[in-house]
Amino acid sequence: MWWPPLLAACLAWAGEAGAGQPEPLCSSRGLCRAPARPNASVPQPGQCPPQRREADMCAWPLSSDSLRDPFPIDVIQENFVRNVRNCIFSVVYPIPFKSRVRLVAVSKEVLENILDLDVSVTGTSDFLQFVSGRKMIFGSVPLAHRYGGHQFGSWAGQLGDGRAHLIGVYTSRNGERWELQLKGSGKTPYSRDGDGRAVLRSSVREFLCSEAMHYLGIPTSRAASLVVSDDDVWRDQFYNGNIKRERGAIVLRLAKSWFRIGSLEILAHSGELDLQRKLLDFIIQEHFPSIALNDSNKYLEFFSRVVSETANLIALWMSVGFAHGVCNTDNFSLLSITIDYGPFGFMESYDPNFIPNTSDDEGRYKIGNQANAGLFNLNKLLQALKPLLDPRQKQLASQILEGYREIYYIRFTELFKTKLGLLGENEDDSSLIAFLLKLMEDTKADFTMTFRQLSEITEDQLKRLHIPEEFWALQDLGKHELFSEWVTMYLLRLNHNKGDCDSKRRKRMTTVNPRYILRNWMAESAVQKANLNDFSEVHLLQQILQHPFQRQQAAEKEGYSLRPPAWAKDLKVSCLS
Ligand code: AMP
Ligand code: MG
Repeated sequence: MWWPPLLAACLAWAGEAGAGQPEPLCSSRGLCRAPARPNASVPQPGQCPPQRREADMCAWPLSSDSLRDPFPIDVIQENFVRNVRNCIFSVVYPIPFKSRVRLVAVSKEVLENILDLDVSVTGTSDFLQFVSGRKMIFGSVPLAHRYGGHQFGSWAGQLGDGRAHLIGVYTSRNGERWELQLKGSGKTPYSRDGDGRAVLRSSVREFLCSEAMHYLGIPTSRAASLVVSDDDVWRDQFYNGNIKRERGAIVLRLAKSWFRIGSLEILAHSGELDLQRKLLDFIIQEHFPSIALNDSNKYLEFFSRVVSETANLIALWMSVGFAHGVCNTDNFSLLSITIDYGPFGFMESYDPNFIPNTSDDEGRYKIGNQANAGLFNLNKLLQALKPLLDPRQKQLASQILEGYREIYYIRFTELFKTKLGLLGENEDDSSLIAFLLKLMEDTKADFTMTFRQLSEITEDQLKRLHIPEEFWALQDLGKHELFSEWVTMYLLRLNHNKGDCDSKRRKRMTTVNPRYILRNWMAESAVQKANLNDFSEVHLLQQILQHPFQRQQAAEKEGYSLRPPAWAKDLKVSCLS
């Protein structure tokens, strides 16, 4: 059944297409109207403004108008798989699970500091229904985004939100605009052959990793909640005919924007240039306020910003050993944040050939190739923008793209210098970094713990080549015949740090080199327990990864900073999620 948009906005209901009766979000008050936001009382001089948080979803304003109004909407409103044209979004309602849903985890920080919700709200039935896609907030119409993309090097045509629903935009008290999306919430016109669902395994991984990346200081989407149902979802996880029953789950995830390179590509490919201009102007206005909309070079400027921020993001990934796994253009954000967590992995032993995704046979997205994948994707973005550029701008844009490698290299070097505690400039810094990485590669030293233990070991211990047993990664590194040569070079370089001393260096380095990352074996162990309805390890990891740079007793007890267990070597992650 098709609800006219206005009517649909009043119903605050999500159900199987055409099934059931519309339900308000708040059963006690009938249809739920978002009241005007209460005026905060004026703080007296010297007084902090009161931190008011909503404990009731009824009084919580969420709206998709700011995404719906500027663009033509898909004229077809029935929910069936098809090729969609002349729009950015389709209106489509989440399809609630048939079985009981339970709340597995929430991010208190996201709820309180982004969504201005009191964490007590998570105990309400309204919250559970909201985060599982059963009920909508009054005034918010769910949308699925139409996008395309290049997958593994080839144009894949229309992709789109095949299992995600954008359920509204929230403007936080500090003025930030966040787009809320459910992932795993049912089929849309973009589902192709998919079932519109996400399984608990991959949802736990996305929930934990996106939050962990945030606390590592890496631009990323955030996760507010994770729910699991008892609905069967069938997956042939390793494409070997071993189809298994898993359970459907939904993550409520947030980003300042979910637009991707593929959002623009599909419009360029189908020749919808007016709409492409409209979308670009919208993105620039909303997210690139320093670019003037009346500037004739605005698209060039936009491209230049995406080029440098993408280089920055990938350098940041490399600085923590993160491999995204599926660097297709549909998974590359125009705001250069990490999105769409699938078969990602943190590298353990240092290995530029590390491939997190078992389905990536040729290693296209191996960790050492991510910067190249970024370049490929930016080139596809440039191809999409070209119809909107004049000949001079096209030439300038190509030059901007040529600068990508250098921006990446500079940022990578800066980050690794910081990881090594180096201050100021020295012409041999790049060699010092490359030398260390070579030793790590040869000795298969653990990436995270080598840097962490270099942050913890004293200069004196290094000088004496005395490496205590607890520094197991450095002991591995120390087996290299050139280790002492590298140490000599490093200590000499540390002497050039102006105004520094060993304790300051160690303190500085421990704030940039994490002690804990979401290793595959940790995520796997949490998933295995979660499959048995024991979510304690999900909660523990969530808590520990909020402070990745601080030594924590609970983490030490679990062995999270120890050598990975032997079974971790055989772990595989496929992109079927
Ligand atoms: P991903 O590899 O998760 O980035 O997804 C690539 C494309 O496939 C996107 O358009 C997704 O929406 C779609 N997709 C992935 N899994 C499913 C699924 N189970 N059901 C429907 N669409 C899916
Ligand atoms: Mg994706």
